[in-house]
Amino acid sequence: MDNNNQSKLHICILSSPGIGHLIPALVLGNRLAGVHDLKVTVLVITTADSPTETQLLKSSKMTSHRHLNTVEIPPVDISALFCANTKMDAQLCLLVRAALPGVRSALCAMKHRLDALVVDLFGTEALPFADELNLPKFVYVPTTAWYTALTVYCPVLDKEIAGQYVDQEKPLEIPGCKPVRPEDVVDPMLDRNDPEYRVYLEEGLGYTRSDGILMNTWEDVDPVSLKALRENEALRKVVGRPVYAIGPLTRRTEKKSPEKNRYMQWLDKQPYESVLYVSFGSGGTLSAKQITELAWGLELSEQRFIWVVRPPSECGSNKSFLTIGQGVDDMPDYLPEGFLTRTHKQGLVVPEWAEQTLILRHLSIGGFLSHCGWNSTLESITNGVPMIAWPLYAEQRQNATLLTEELGVAIRPMKLPSKGVIAREEVKKMVKMVLQYEEGKEMRERVEKLRISAEKAISTGGSSYNSMCEVLNAIQKRRDLKLCK
Ligand code: UDP
Repeated sequence: MDNNNQSKLHICILSSPGIGHLIPALVLGNRLAGVHDLKVTVLVITTADSPTETQLLKSSKMTSHRHLNTVEIPPVDISALFCANTKMDAQLCLLVRAALPGVRSALCAMKHRLDALVVDLFGTEALPFADELNLPKFVYVPTTAWYTALTVYCPVLDKEIAGQYVDQEKPLEIPGCKPVRPEDVVDPMLDRNDPEYRVYLEEGLGYTRSDGILMNTWEDVDPVSLKALRENEALRKVVGRPVYAIGPLTRRTEKKSPEKNRYMQWLDKQPYESVLYVSFGSGGTLSAKQITELAWGLELSEQRFIWVVRPPSECGSNKSFLTIGQGVDDMPDYLPEGFLTRTHKQGLVVPEWAEQTLILRHLSIGGFLSHCGWNSTLESITNGVPMIAWPLYAEQRQNATLLTEELGVAIRPMKLPSKGVIAREEVKKMVKMVLQYEEGKEMRERVEKLRISAEKAISTGGSSYNSMCEVLNAIQKRRDLKLCK
């Protein structure tokens, strides 16, 4: 798209609260500003108890482009609307809803200089503002086409299927897609009586009220679902909008960090592809029992590791999702007695938060035990790192199935981590498989092929690059029409 002869297109991206939403929004913003030469404003919905967003925004790595601006929507106190049982998606929906007047004001303040609105998956309630301002409007789903298909099709499943999805005997059929096993459904589908489920149904309907759905995926990673979303008649009827695979868009890190911290210095001393990186995303936690088994499994594997640890949480949930984002210096006291001393030569423990993108690109990393959050997954694939899939929440069970059964770049425990504790022996076996055995070598070869295909997809002329250009051409056409009037 050639913007040289006219003023740049200006696109506004609305980011829902939470680091897991802000990162994809900023990554998309940087891509549009940096590669497609646009002006981008990211509207960030902040929360009262979360300094994370502000800190991330101040990080030059995330808002590095001079044509990328961020505007923070001030937090609204909605704690009175939550109860102890309010699930994460429902909380996010309430937070976004409360912020809508602020979002509208911010959009109105920019209206003469704006050409399109992109909202993320929790922001679809802001789409009518685009209509008010006569702007094209898109939804950005920063994950797979398979998730997108399930989400838009869920209102149909809602009518067709009686009882809980998790109690179904057969996988859930989505036209043209790989069926979804009942235990793999996304969190909000686990209990149809929970208000979170209604929020999820609305999310799916919201996608279909946009002018197009952008997804952080690419042809080789999601071929079946992408084809279905584009061509399957029954699914098309529901989606009704063009879909665009524009990924993988991942966070960039500077080639060299000015000051190397203790774990990067440690990694420098380890042999090529010898270290397992263990992390559960921005908010994943494990039960006390699971931490103990994981620690023993790592120790017994006798393989090198770097593990981002968090205090135990019995529910293993993502309740810290909105607030995590900082490392802390205190060493944890919840690991098995003597673990840190016994493993001080074998591995490293980093409390709370580490610079994941720097770690994953380090040549000493040979595997990633991951909760399969989509950002982490993409960061792993684009660095050619095979995975141990340890899904915890959100759409991670679906991601784990895609990685293990369709792409062959990960192995996973026999049972879901949410269904019981994974014992030390199984952890040990998986770690050795990835780092030492033939399976690991084969996965590495496959992930390397995917890494190359990812690079191609986003390069000039690649499928995802072209897909993004299609979106931008549609926006440009709409602007030209407006100017003609
Ligand atoms: N992340 C990080 N350091 C950590 C944990 C997470 O930098 O210690 C980053 C990670 O690189 C990724 C994001 O946080 O970009 C997590 O997103 P993901 O989709 O993997 O999981 P979520 O947090 O949404 O569950």
